[in-house]
Amino acid sequence: MEAKKNFGGLDLFRVVAACLVVAIHTSPLETISPEGDFFVTRIVARVAVPFFFMVTGQFVLSDYFRKDGKNTASLWRYLRKAALLYGIAVLLYLPLGIYAGHYKEMTFGTVLRMLLVDGTFYHLWYFPGLILGILLLMALRRFCSVKMTGVIVSLLYLLGLLGDSYWGLASQIPGVSAAYQWCFQVLFGYTRNGLFFAPLFLWMGAVAYREDDRTKMAPSYQKITGDMAGLVISLFSMTIEGFLLRYLEWQRHDSMYLALPLCAFFLYQILLKVTWEIPPLYRTAATWMYLLHPGVIVVVRGLPFGKEILKNSLLFYGIVLLISGGGAWLAAFFIQRFFGHGYKRKKRKSRQGDLFPKARAWIEVDKAALRQNVKALSSLLPENCQLMPAVKADAYGHGAVLVAKELNRMGMDAFCVACVAEGVSLRKHGVQGEILVLGYTHPKEFPLLHRYCLTQTVVDYDYALLLNQYGKRVCVHVGIDTGMRRLGERSDHEERLMEICHLKNLNIRGAFTHLCADDTNEPKDVEFTQKQVNEFYRIVKKWEEEGFSCPKVHLMASYGVLNYPHLAGDYARVGIALYGLHSAREDYDGSGIRLTPVLSLKARVASVRELGSGEAAGYGLAFVAKRPMRIAALTIGYGDGLPRALSCGGGSVLIRGKRARILGRICMDQTLVDVTEIPEAAAGDIAVLIGISGDEEITAYELAEAGGTITNEIVSRLGQRLWRVGVGGR
Ligand SMILES: *Cc1c(COP(=O)(O)O)cnc(C)c1O
Repeated sequence: MEAKKNFGGLDLFRVVAACLVVAIHTSPLETISPEGDFFVTRIVARVAVPFFFMVTGQFVLSDYFRKDGKNTASLWRYLRKAALLYGIAVLLYLPLGIYAGHYKEMTFGTVLRMLLVDGTFYHLWYFPGLILGILLLMALRRFCSVKMTGVIVSLLYLLGLLGDSYWGLASQIPGVSAAYQWCFQVLFGYTRNGLFFAPLFLWMGAVAYREDDRTKMAPSYQKITGDMAGLVISLFSMTIEGFLLRYLEWQRHDSMYLALPLCAFFLYQILLKVTWEIPPLYRTAATWMYLLHPGVIVVVRGLPFGKEILKNSLLFYGIVLLISGGGAWLAAFFIQRFFGHGYKRKKRKSRQGDLFPKARAWIEVDKAALRQNVKALSSLLPENCQLMPAVKADAYGHGAVLVAKELNRMGMDAFCVACVAEGVSLRKHGVQGEILVLGYTHPKEFPLLHRYCLTQTVVDYDYALLLNQYGKRVCVHVGIDTGMRRLGERSDHEERLMEICHLKNLNIRGAFTHLCADDTNEPKDVEFTQKQVNEFYRIVKKWEEEGFSCPKVHLMASYGVLNYPHLAGDYARVGIALYGLHSAREDYDGSGIRLTPVLSLKARVASVRELGSGEAAGYGLAFVAKRPMRIAALTIGYGDGLPRALSCGGGSVLIRGKRARILGRICMDQTLVDVTEIPEAAAGDIAVLIGISGDEEITAYELAEAGGTITNEIVSRLGQRLWRVGVGGR
């Protein structure tokens, strides 16, 4: 598994933001400098709550925004959790609220308003704000695009501003003033709520970070400097704005500024790039600090020497911070202990029972062999022709992510896959470079091409029109059918091909054809291949005459490179040869290079037992012992992709460097072999099904021949249940 993206910067700032919120409610500099205190608590600290909303937006809403799947379930779960926490907080603060006289002369309407909008204690507006904000965004996103939703929440924010820091402006306009005042009396106490304030920041968080940005997120100090400059400038603007509004006495409340979304944006961008490891404990603690500190404030004020403390606002802040921080840490600690989502617990657990990749049946991918094949194949190619490895079908069973990442490390930056899902998976695991989808993509999946920067093959003329109709510009390579009659527009349909290159929404990055008779040296095949090549270049030339010069062209696959390397092009789409195999042993290869098989297939001996003369074994009792024998059961079967055609002596395996014949019918998860001649064979031994053991080797050819197929099928059918492990190499 890949390491998950680390959001340490966000985790760290949660704690900082909680301290800032405590500052807002304690005014640490009040007794020292009122202006200074205004600057710290009414301006700087105002980024704290927007930050919390943005984090929630990112982790809770971003999937829903992209409609990546059925994510409403997790959204509702989150909302339930938030409501529960709010419920606990309401109960927790009930006595304090009563004591402070908050709940006098309540009507049903005011109770409702307090619970659903304003919060039952001054800091608790946050929870109804969060819930209402999320619900609003869910509703908006259902009917509008992400951008439109952004426009609407921005407008709401502007309306909110007029009821908050810019109240002085709104109150001068008679009708507007009356409308706001009615709202303040009936609907909500402040516009800093789930309708006007939270949605914008939740939206900003939801669009702040894309999973597939991860590869581009490598530390880019230039970018950080830009964000830093942005933060400094926007904070400066907000300072001027804040003091100006204060001077004008326009502020009814001081939570919302014009420059605040900008500050929050730049701050967030910086934090996204910080990757320190912060234990999750602090994340939980930050929430509890937010919850607890108003209670602590009341308690500290009420202490016998509370009045003395209040005389020094900084001391007061320090004490409140210390007590609520300590309390929050304890709360987080106990939650971690007893509800078990903790860091340490998980870690300890995993140490006790890690899955072991080589426990049952697995594939070893020899990186050194892969490197050798890359070198050997590259040596055949002209200088400006690059390898574009085919990593479709899980890299011919080798493990697409494992192989593509290794190839990335070797400097390769173009790949081809069979379908969108394969491309998405590579991107999600951080594979870089161009990824060409060779096959058909359903229009419903067009957005994925765009989102994951995948290049689509134009499979024919009608498909080109379909792609062109999709609203966004899509990167494509045009397939040209020069004789295989599978995919690509027929090369004899010149007009259509000319039309394709003029379609507005196709970003044509390349064109290719596929040779289908390049694996022999028989004259008729050589002639056919030459015809294919001529047809291909004829079209490329025609395009050029029309004023379209195709950026990249390619036509060779493995056998093209081995037998026709002079055909060149910009890419060579090598598959099977890269994995060190020919499709069949007897295939013609005029290259003279040596290919090294990359894949080994291994399993374990599960159990060894005696079989008496005349006794039968396995399904259908298909094997009958003619003499006393020892047989072993192996932990691999046709469910792992082992061809069932190897049953009943059709194949063998290697144990301790010796051959053991397969007995009876191969089962789904097990296979029986004859170890009579290998007396030292024991449970736990490694059995090699493809690969080397001692001086013996079993090749993929052997399996292919026994199964009446080609090596391509043997390796690409190896199952998902097998672990893929990289071995050898640097
Ligand atoms: C699979 C495939 C390749 C790679 O073929 P190999 O013979 O394995 O090298 C190249 N191009 C296309 C279009 C393919 O489908």
